[in-house]
Amino acid sequence: MEIRVEKIVVIGLGLIGGSFALDIKDKRSNAIVVGIDTNSEHVLKAKELGVIDKEGTQEDIQEADWVIVAVPVDKSMNVLVDVLNKINSTAIVFDVGSTKSQICEAVKNHQNRRNFIAAHPIAGTEFSGPQAALKGLFMERTNIICEVEKTAFVFQEKALELFKQIGMRIRYMDPISHDKHIAYMSHLSHISSFMLGKTVIEEEKNERDIFDMAGSGFESTVRLAKSSPAMWTPIFKQNKDHVIKSLSEYIANLNSFKELLEQEKYEEVFATLEETNRIKQILK
Ligand code: NAP
Repeated sequence: MEIRVEKIVVIGLGLIGGSFALDIKDKRSNAIVVGIDTNSEHVLKAKELGVIDKEGTQEDIQEADWVIVAVPVDKSMNVLVDVLNKINSTAIVFDVGSTKSQICEAVKNHQNRRNFIAAHPIAGTEFSGPQAALKGLFMERTNIICEVEKTAFVFQEKALELFKQIGMRIRYMDPISHDKHIAYMSHLSHISSFMLGKTVIEEEKNERDIFDMAGSGFESTVRLAKSSPAMWTPIFKQNKDHVIKSLSEYIANLNSFKELLEQEKYEEVFATLEETNRIKQILK
């Protein structure tokens, strides 16, 4: 019996697009993964590392069974509209962007909206580009899907099957709630890590001193400050209002803690730390 080849087009061959490509190649023996990226070096690297089978063309988008859009969120909207303009009627398109409101808004009236799944896989590392792609990155991680009711049922089913095949749990959310919650859970953590890194670099002009004294606490807290500015700046821009709100609350907490130290209120320092230890029960 002839096995039907499934054509998967991945646009954006970085950490997330590359990791999807690796997992799909691993789990679906009939899949051919073709890659498109504005960065020609990333296309070459992705081919060399076996992340993709070959470089894709615009014609591949027309023939695709699946199109995965994994570019920075400010680029996603134009890329998605262009992809939705080109696909055939049975293709499934999903994005992986870390913000969802503007992306959902950009495609809400598109005639092929029913072919699109607005997704955000909560998985990643601080590294980028095809060399950062990891097989198994999505195993036991949550994939948030927004406005699922706007995707045709048949495409929802197929997409859920693919996401489950690579080990993901699914959660449904509206785009505004997604952006609000993710500002606290992810965006604030990245800003906090970047600003910790900035503070220490400014204080310790001699970088060797940082490395000599860096313990695992500093390293684990500052890890996210290695993340790509090209990916994060558009995320902060698109989610500005929620990020500013979360930052204001964080800054208020930092200021209160500083005041407790200035006023030598060590019992209250202890109580604040002890109460925050509750995070041990929340994140086991
Ligand atoms: P990445 O490693 O930097 O990869 C993005 C790739 O897309 C790069 O090769 C980039 O090339 C390329 N690109 C940029 N504009 C393009 C365009 N218009 N057409 C085609 N290719 C283009 O980034 P990533 O971490 O995989 O992030 C991709 C998406 O996943 C983002 O929307 C992000 O919000 C989302 N996401 C990221 C994480 C994470 O932890 N990193 C987690 C969940 C979701 P250049 O490098 O030359 O620009």
